[in-house]
Amino acid sequence: MGLYDALWRAAEQRPEQRAFSDPGLGAEGVSYGALHARAGRWAAGLQALGVRSGDRVLVQAEKSVEVVVLYLATLRAGAVYVPLNTAYTATEMAYFFTDAAPTVAVLPAPDALAAHTDGCRCLTLNALAAELDEEREALAPVPRSAEDLAAILYTSGTTGRSKGAMLSHGNLLSNAHALRSLWGWQADDVLVHSLPIYHVHGLFVALHCAMLEPSEVRFLLRFSPEAVLEALPGATVFMGVPTHYVRLLDAPGLTGQAAAGMRLWVSGSAPLRPETHEAFEARTGQKILERYGMSEAGMITSNPLKGPRIPGTVGFVLPEGEVRLRSEEGAPVLEGAVGVLEIRGPNVFSGYWRQPEKTAESFRDGWFITGDMAQIDDTGRVSIVGRHKDLVISGGLNVYPREVESVLDMLPGIEESAVFGVPHRDFGEAVVAAVVLKADAYPGDGVTLAALREALAAFKVPKALFPLTTLPRNTMGKVQKNQLRADYAETFSKGSAL
Ligand code: AMP
Repeated sequence: MGLYDALWRAAEQRPEQRAFSDPGLGAEGVSYGALHARAGRWAAGLQALGVRSGDRVLVQAEKSVEVVVLYLATLRAGAVYVPLNTAYTATEMAYFFTDAAPTVAVLPAPDALAAHTDGCRCLTLNALAAELDEEREALAPVPRSAEDLAAILYTSGTTGRSKGAMLSHGNLLSNAHALRSLWGWQADDVLVHSLPIYHVHGLFVALHCAMLEPSEVRFLLRFSPEAVLEALPGATVFMGVPTHYVRLLDAPGLTGQAAAGMRLWVSGSAPLRPETHEAFEARTGQKILERYGMSEAGMITSNPLKGPRIPGTVGFVLPEGEVRLRSEEGAPVLEGAVGVLEIRGPNVFSGYWRQPEKTAESFRDGWFITGDMAQIDDTGRVSIVGRHKDLVISGGLNVYPREVESVLDMLPGIEESAVFGVPHRDFGEAVVAAVVLKADAYPGDGVTLAALREALAAFKVPKALFPLTTLPRNTMGKVQKNQLRADYAETFSKGSAL
């Protein structure tokens, strides 16, 4: 069955169920029946604009219920949804246009891209909505099989050009079913949704769980601790990135009482620091559930709903999925050792859009090489140690930034840290750290380095500490180590070994 059919079938069980509520929709919000009825008209409208099965509909638009309707309408018309981060510039967008070759595109300022949009109907979201809202008979869902393409998600592209991960109906649907049952989703759940909807977390994980039930979504157009706290009464589930939890903890309004009605707090998209996990539990009496996933596979592992949620680990592989660890050369690693995480399962994408070589490089015997370094304990619990490309090789020895960060973050006066490698004449790469300090509690670099030398082998101890007021992060809370590497690339250019 296609993804749209599954979502529609769920909605037909209880069409009067409220789908979205947000301040702009009034007290009633919009029901699942109304949502799908509009998606049906919009799907017919998309066909009238020339969209056929397999065609791409590219969307760069601020979060709104209309964008969700457009997502559903695209699936219903049998087309392929291509969401893009609203932060992308016109130059970056020109690349996506050439690569995805969409039939219809929604852009904030279509004229700015006129030179690249030949053969594509480009409109603002308002203009498209006006056109698609015209009186029209709903289009019956175009039949789709599990293998048909449903969406292309462009990866954040921290190295080289961004690649389009091709996700099929089967990939998205299997992941949605798995999460729904794993996280015990219920009809009376109310999700506080403050994530962007151009990314796997906010678009697929959060919305599919709610839509499959179907259950209510409190749709906040952007994250702020105040807006989330205001939305909590009567809500049961929140999904956020680690930065959201840090910011919620800064808000005095986050109390055990404010969180009392909630049954599930999910974190992912970047590592959740154990301190944040513990501080959240101390404040609210509830444990965050950390899970791990990526654009290419949706969710891969999750801490359990019932059973220990261990800070610093991302839990167990989802049912039907498989994980294994390999060395860079593809050899199995010893039990308990760090290796590159490889995955297989119905959630794993089929390859990168129009990039057969990149696709071939990313799979080994049918297993997708995630690029994340991980450890798996004897119970199958996975811990992510960092990205493979962030691994620092100093004097021929491997240093996993996460290990150094977790020691640094525990030291007095350190708010958070990011460990990375920069070129060094003697060592090849030198381990260095950007640190955000709590100025009044920081004992100074000398004391900090001495404490690091006690806790870590000498080759892992940073050769320089760079104080910053904040770490550079993208909207999903991921620290931009590329930027840090570029900013500090010259640190040892004169060969000054510390
Ligand atoms: P994206 O495709 O933008 O969702 O990025 C996926 C990457 O985010 C993964 O390959 C991991 O490096 C990282 N990631 C996601 N969730 C976690 C997590 N819970 N802990 C550590 N890293 C994570």
